[in-house]
Amino acid sequence: MTGKSLALYVHWPFCVSKCPYCDFNSHVRSNIDQHAWREALLADLAYEARLLPGRALTSIFFGGGTPSLMDPATVEAIIDAAHQHWVAEDRIEITLEANPNSVEAARFADLATAGVNRVSLGLQSFDDSSLAFLGRAHSAREGFASLATAQKHFRRVSFDLIYALPGDTEDNWSMTLAQALSLGVDHLSLYQLTIEPGTRFASMVARHEFEPLDADAAAGLFELTDAMTSEAGMPAYEISNHARRGQESRHNLTYWRYGDYAGIGPGAHGRRLGQRTVRHKKPENFMSALSRNGHGIAEEAPLSPVEAADEALVMGLRLREGVDIHAIAERFGLSRVVDWERVARLVGSGHVTREGALIALTARGRLLLDYILGEIAAVEEPRTLAVG
Ligand code: SF4
Repeated sequence: MTGKSLALYVHWPFCVSKCPYCDFNSHVRSNIDQHAWREALLADLAYEARLLPGRALTSIFFGGGTPSLMDPATVEAIIDAAHQHWVAEDRIEITLEANPNSVEAARFADLATAGVNRVSLGLQSFDDSSLAFLGRAHSAREGFASLATAQKHFRRVSFDLIYALPGDTEDNWSMTLAQALSLGVDHLSLYQLTIEPGTRFASMVARHEFEPLDADAAAGLFELTDAMTSEAGMPAYEISNHARRGQESRHNLTYWRYGDYAGIGPGAHGRRLGQRTVRHKKPENFMSALSRNGHGIAEEAPLSPVEAADEALVMGLRLREGVDIHAIAERFGLSRVVDWERVARLVGSGHVTREGALIALTARGRLLLDYILGEIAAVEEPRTLAVG
């Protein structure tokens, strides 16, 4: 019999260049010692495995950075080691994020042989001028060619698009989305462009070099996305993720359903045994921590029941299936998780649905996730009686 389930996240921190909107932990380096990185990731993995014996491994996700730049032999070594450390479920999902260019597409056959069975391609746009604006190194043509190669080698292929760029309209986005829906994939990640602090785009906006699309227009595009993807049988199962039934990312569902996951590699976050873990972000710091301590952890802290319940609520509300408030309260031993009067008001205004203790956001509500969380979250520990 296998134990509690576990997902594994592996972060590869390197990219060929830095995209101007990117706030991920990605670094550009001229020389990468693939052998040293393979050994480091394997050691970091072994450290987590020692703390998590007997788990049933449901998914592995290689994210980045650009993990399609990893040596396929490194990917294979990590997959093999994970199978040795844990019992893998029969339907284990092994995803790798890839950039759509010919160099990386040429590795797809080897990555499939290494055990990867799902690819998530960063197409981002079908339009060359939008790709140039986003600082992407590939053209639309290369994107389509990589998608075709990916579909040849992997049973499950997803791709990302970024919309709500300056100047985007319902007309041009509906044409792009219709094309996306015709390309034969069962999963799409559709992100609105957001200007994150510390990125090159944030400086450009501060210097008035461009204006982000206004919030009302972006909301209109979000609603259009919801309608078109639902109509096509690929509704949102999470704020930005759309899939045919059964094709949802099992790995990401583990995050949103608040399951345990081990996170290895620079900057990776993990959650295991009631603890939050964060690895060193800078590749060089990660490497020196690893040789010093045998793992790359920069911070490790227990999550209090209140913190854990708050996170579980934040994660669960991203999902269309919603979140069971009583289950959260019971799991973390809390007397209260939400303010039910406020939930009732949001049900009345059409932003939230409620069936017993299960609450979920409507399409209108999903546009206002942060506001709604601020309104309803009311996590409280049971009062303890003073003695004496
Ligand atoms: S390829 Fe991805 S991770 Fe790398 S810089 Fe661009 S957006 Fe960031």
